[in-house]
Amino acid sequence: MLIDTHCHLDFPDFDAERDAIIERARQAGVTQMVTISTRVKRFETILAIAEKYENVFCSVGTHPHNADEELDITTEDLVRLSTHPKVVAIGEAGLDYFYDNAPREAQAEGLRRHIAAARETGLPLVIHSRSADEDMAAILTEEAGKGAFPFLLHCFSSGAELARIGVELGGYVSFSGILTFPKSQELRDIAKTVRHDRLIVETDAPYLAPKPFRGKRNEPAYVAHTADVLAETIGVSKEEIAEITTENAWRVFSKMPRL
Ligand SMILES: [Zn+2]
Ligand SMILES: [Zn+2]
Repeated sequence: MLIDTHCHLDFPDFDAERDAIIERARQAGVTQMVTISTRVKRFETILAIAEKYENVFCSVGTHPHNADEELDITTEDLVRLSTHPKVVAIGEAGLDYFYDNAPREAQAEGLRRHIAAARETGLPLVIHSRSADEDMAAILTEEAGKGAFPFLLHCFSSGAELARIGVELGGYVSFSGILTFPKSQELRDIAKTVRHDRLIVETDAPYLAPKPFRGKRNEPAYVAHTADVLAETIGVSKEEIAEITTENAWRVFSKMPRL
């Protein structure tokens, strides 16, 4: 049993065969999925998907790429929308200095509002961080000082120091298909340093398909390939990694029902 803690089932890539994709996930042992919000203005679409499928849950939030378009969304809006029983997380929010699609000030402001919502609701904040290690570490440290909030560093591709600080602040580290790429030895070395009770897996589908599907459209069923590489990396069995990551996912996504 595995949980895909991060996918984007609302993306047009999946429109033609969403039922089939969710069925393939079930057959691959992926028992639950969290489809992640990138625009609060698209929340109705995401919620409709989560409502349609019993084992699909969702988040509410604004991706850093869209941060400047949604500065009218307040912490109170996020808190209110998150009361729906299918909403199990806040985000994804964060900092993406690789693309810099939105001004950095807007990204930081959005991130802080999402942190406040996570703190208030107790729902985990799904954090997107790319090429922004120092600013992310600074904001997380400062905000955690105002009051703890659950979070995970999703699709982890940052440096060892951010992983260390994240874990120290009580956060979880989630690995995607990037972990399986041959050139990702540094990332695998970081994975070895993360406490087992903070490890999570995800696909980030439709992006970042793991080996052997690299370059193709990703889907939740493929999370097993990332889990296999994580198991090998930290020296546990496939059964153990399923147990570890599922237990961790349920602990941090505490609103998601345990099966
Ligand atoms: Zn992301
Ligand atoms: Zn994402």
